This record gives sequence, structure tokens and C-alpha cells, in this order.
Amino acid sequence: MSGGWATGSQTSLREANRAAILDSVKRYGGLTQVELVGSTGLSAATISTIVKELTSSGLVEVRPTSRSGRRAQLVTVARRVGLAIGVQVGTRHLRVALGDFGGEVIADQTLPLPSEHRIDTTLDRTALLIVDLLDRVGATLDELVGIAMAVPAPVDVATGLISVRGVMRGWDDEPVAQVMSKRLGKPVWVDNDANLGALAEATLGAGRPFADVLYVRASHGIGAGIVLGGRLHRGFAGTAGEIGHVQVDPQGAICRCGSRGCLDTVVGADALLAPLAGSHGALTLRDVMHRAMAGDPGCTRVVADAGEAIGAVLASAAQALNPQVVVVGGELAETGEMLLDPMRRELRRGMLPNLIAPIDIVPAMLGQQAEVMGALATVLENTDVADTVDRAATTREEER
Ligand SMILES: [Zn+2]
Repeated sequence: MSGGWATGSQTSLREANRAAILDSVKRYGGLTQVELVGSTGLSAATISTIVKELTSSGLVEVRPTSRSGRRAQLVTVARRVGLAIGVQVGTRHLRVALGDFGGEVIADQTLPLPSEHRIDTTLDRTALLIVDLLDRVGATLDELVGIAMAVPAPVDVATGLISVRGVMRGWDDEPVAQVMSKRLGKPVWVDNDANLGALAEATLGAGRPFADVLYVRASHGIGAGIVLGGRLHRGFAGTAGEIGHVQVDPQGAICRCGSRGCLDTVVGADALLAPLAGSHGALTLRDVMHRAMAGDPGCTRVVADAGEAIGAVLASAAQALNPQVVVVGGELAETGEMLLDPMRRELRRGMLPNLIAPIDIVPAMLGQQAEVMGALATVLENTDVADTVDRAATTREEER
């Protein structure tokens, strides 16, 4: 064996180990060295050496944490690598969060949106909000590394286009990523809201202890995101997990997607509000939730029936995917067991009893921030941290 070959091999092994550690830290938004042993399979000594190297080259930071009750050192991507923006375009609201590369949300803001909002005005508002948030923390667009956006429709992430027509009216065939990227001069990624919620809940929230997680987002519409082996599974054209368009009533109403009797036509906001119009008058989804939580029998019934209908569809999805846990988020999940209990019963009733790993349904942990946190994680995942630090250093040199 030649000496040169041995050196080359050692260098590439070290590079691979560095990449594995950096990748783990990026994915989980900060890990202790003990957790890094578990996630990379490397020895504690190797991790300690490489974390020291990465710290001195400014790629990661180590700070104290008291997570899980014990004091430890948390390794995160260095905050000074830059800033990221996560956007959630909802059916009735727009949420924008500014985060650093250390995995913290620094500032966020939510605006109400009119129903059937237009793409051009919504993107205008988004761009204004981004500049506003940066301004609020005394930062500039130069410090922004990228933007990721969550939308309530299936997305082909390769093109950034919505992959099913009619689901998001007025947004079909619109190159959202290119339009936003041109406006702000930054890279932009677009993905489905439930996918980004799934990513956040699986890596930072209720799904963190598990590798295979099914995340359900119950809000104005219903969707799901699938994480298998710690990775988001989008499917070939981005429609994996679209449980909202599974047919539950062959004689049901025509759905926005053109099919008939989709789950969305049974548990979407319009479908939940319609049967209450006669007895309760005009309500919003929030009103129904508040009244249900205050004990109103009609509103309670609507939420419980929704849980049952969702649970029946989840049984098929969970039977096909065999996840360890189902995490339920979105606004409707704020009603807690009122929604989750009937959902859990239907899920178990419709599934093969699994003695080894009985599945459970748990509430989400990140609340209404899950989708923007998933978007922030997407920017981090798509950013070459070492390259960004190098470029920042070069810019500083040139300015000197
Ligand atoms: Zn449909």
C-alpha cells in the first residue's frame, strides 16, 4: 500500500465523517454529542474531534442546553452563517418567520388573507413582510441565504409548480419560486404545507423519537406528510399523503380537484360549517373550535365526526405505510381529544392489530409554527454551509 493512498483514504474518511455530522446537525436543528453518536454511528472521540474542527472553521457552534433535564452541550449550525425565511401561505392567512441557522425563530408575523386570495397580491405582501421582518431585527437582504414557502396544495418540488389543478385556485401553472426569487434575488423553494409540517414535527416535534412518522394537518383543508426512515417522502410528483383527495363518498359533492366525495368535501372548513348554518348561523372555523371547546353540543359533534372521518382514511394510509406514530397538527388539532379520540378509534378499528408496534395518534408539538419551521429547515437542508461561510469570508476580505 502506498503512503499517498493511505493519506487520501484518511482524508476522504474524515470528509465523510464531517459531512455526516454536519448533515445530522442540519436535519435535527441541533444535537448533543451523545445524540450525534446515535444519529451518525461514529465514536464519541471522533465526534468530539470533528466538532472542534467544525467550530474553529465557524461552521457550527456549541452552546449549553438543559434539554431532557440534564445539562449538555448542544451542537448547532453557526448562527452567523446567515438568516433564512420560512413562509406559510394558508387558505386564510399568511405567516412569515425569520430564523437563524442555529435553528431559532427570531421573529415572525401573521396576516389574515381574504378567501380565494390572488397570487400576485399575496406574493407582494409576502415580499413586503420579509423585508419588514429583516428590518425589525436590524438585518438586511444580504444576510438572507434563502426562502422556503409552504402552500396548501401538492407541489412538484423539482419545478416548484402545483401538481394538481384546481386545488389552489389562481395558482395553477404559476412559477411561484421563480417569481419570488426574481423579486428578492434569493433562492426560493416551494413545498406542500403538510410536507413541511411533517418535516418539522418529525425532526423537532412530537415525531422526533421515531423514524417513520405520518403527519396529518387538519385545518381549512386536510392533508398529510410522510416521513420514512427520517426522510420526507413526497412521491413521484409530490402528491404522496394527499389524504384530502381520497374518495370517502362516491355520491358526495364535487371536490375542487374535480373528483367526487373526497375527504376534503367532508371535513374541509366549508363542509364543517355548512351543517351548522341552520342552527348556529354564520360561523368561522375558529368560532366552531372555540364553541366546541366551550362545550357547545352541535360544534362538538361536528369536530368529533371530522375526527372519525379522518381516522377511517388514516387507517388505510397507516396500513400501507406502517408508521410508528401519527402526529396530528393544524388548527383543528387544538380541540385535542375531542378530535383525536374518535380518530384513534377509527384508525384502530380499520387496521390490522399489530402486536409488535401498536400505532398511536398524538397531538403535534409545534402548533401553528410547524409549517414555517419546516420551511426554515428546508432552507438549511438546501444550503451548503461551508460554501456560504467561505463566500461570506471572501466578501469581508474584498470589503477590507
Ligand atoms: Zn378532491
